[in-house]
Amino acid sequence: MTGENEYDVIVVGLGPGGEHVAIKAAESGLRVLGVEERLVGGECPYFGCVPSKMMIAAAHTLREARRVGELAGSSTVSPDWTPVATRIRDEATDDWDDTAAVKRLEDAGATFVRGRGVLAGDGGVTVDGTTYRASRGIVVNTGTAPAAPPIDGLADTPYWTNRDMVKLTELPGSAVVIGGGAIGCELAQVMALFGVQVTMVEVADRLVALEEPEASAALEHAFAETGIQVLTGASIGSVSYSEGRFTLDVDGQEIGADKLLVAAGRRNNLLGLGLEHVGLDPESRVLDPDDHMRVADGVWAIGDIVGKGAFTHVSMYQGAVVLNDLLGRDGPWADYRAVSRVTFTAPEVASVGLTEKAAREQGIDVVVATGDLGGRGWMAREEGLIKLVADRDREILVGGVVVGPAGGEIMSMLELAVHAEVPLPTLLHQHFAYPTYHRAYETVLKDLGEQLGGH
Ligand SMILES: Cc1cc2nc3c(=O)[nH]c(=O)nc-3n(C[C@H](O)[C@H](O)[C@H](O)COP(=O)(O)OP(=O)(O)OC[C@H]3O[C@@H](n4cnc5c(N)ncnc54)[C@H](O)[C@@H]3O)c2cc1C
Repeated sequence: MTGENEYDVIVVGLGPGGEHVAIKAAESGLRVLGVEERLVGGECPYFGCVPSKMMIAAAHTLREARRVGELAGSSTVSPDWTPVATRIRDEATDDWDDTAAVKRLEDAGATFVRGRGVLAGDGGVTVDGTTYRASRGIVVNTGTAPAAPPIDGLADTPYWTNRDMVKLTELPGSAVVIGGGAIGCELAQVMALFGVQVTMVEVADRLVALEEPEASAALEHAFAETGIQVLTGASIGSVSYSEGRFTLDVDGQEIGADKLLVAAGRRNNLLGLGLEHVGLDPESRVLDPDDHMRVADGVWAIGDIVGKGAFTHVSMYQGAVVLNDLLGRDGPWADYRAVSRVTFTAPEVASVGLTEKAAREQGIDVVVATGDLGGRGWMAREEGLIKLVADRDREILVGGVVVGPAGGEIMSMLELAVHAEVPLPTLLHQHFAYPTYHRAYETVLKDLGEQLGGH
């Protein structure tokens, strides 16, 4: 006998991975309850990847249009945010309404409850005073919220985060962006290409500081060309807001702008989740799963909250691992050797696996080679590079970065090479079509081959 509040699986938080687990588990015949306090699908479709990529597509179209004079005649480019705002509202987010996503879930056979889920122990999840029980397990996919750094005065100002920017119907004349990671860089360049006067302030000594230094340098060069003022290694003393203007004290220098976008990290939604009821530390900032994504008896965790890469594709990958476990399959289990990531700036910064520094820290005997992207000469745009990181002993690639137009696509060969541990001689002796961007791999691989004694 099963009661009305009893399920096989309860998914708390329906980000991309949780939504995937809920739908697939229900389609496999399990009784599934999905619990979501905001919008089914999570940050990605409503406030993250999808709307930001719509902005980027528009901004990069402006950038291309500005090259008509150089390559193809003449054109007048007059940026207008209205089509971007309309597409985001109508095509991406349905005006921030998840009716279609809830229907997809229910059509798959899952039950949906809107509200905040709290782990209650013993397979229980409480939502608004009602406790639901899961016999097989609970999947936690509660994701992140924008975090604001503890800067004097910041909390008292009407600063923006990504959640505000996706709802804009017009752009300001000027903006300061705090945070030079992927999100800050993407949104800063969008605004700049639309004609906003942008200043980027980053505490680290370079943009996209988790990536290779060569990638940061290339991006900083591109940002300077876009007219963005980049302040790295910066210390922000205070922020204030008065009469429609933000003022920042950055290393003693006063910087003013109409708007302030804070893209300085994310906070995992773990506080108040009832972790203590499943034997975990309620103060945890990140959860530490095993390779089946289990974090406690009968509890799985996926997505940004497990700190293995805050990306939609990682969340969905982990969801597939959980499904294997829930459905009694024999793996495959989680493997993070070849996690890939793309910052969708112009040029794109796309990387996979280990950076040179991370590989050295792991004790790998590292060999690296770097080369210009070059390739598509007729495009009259040559910026970009490829850097490859190899393991000398095993003669395989363990990581690399591609900076360039469509860098995320050019990287796919690298993704495969790192994931499948393709031997370097095999990579080197393949055909590379001329004249493509990916042909630049050949030069860089040859350099690696020579360092390894000639292949
Ligand atoms: C501007 C921006 C751009 C991005 N661009 C990309 C990109 O191009 N590519 C990429 O791969 N990634 C990108 N990301 C990251 C991506 O959005 C996340 O990695 C992705 O959403 C996966 O997150 P998640 O699965 O951890 O859950 P989330 O998407 O964060 O969703 C978690 C859900 O859980 C809900 N929730 C939280 N607590 C509870 C609770 N107690 N009870 C019920 N529900 C709860 C939340 O309301 C939320 O809907 C971007 C992020 C941002 C902000």
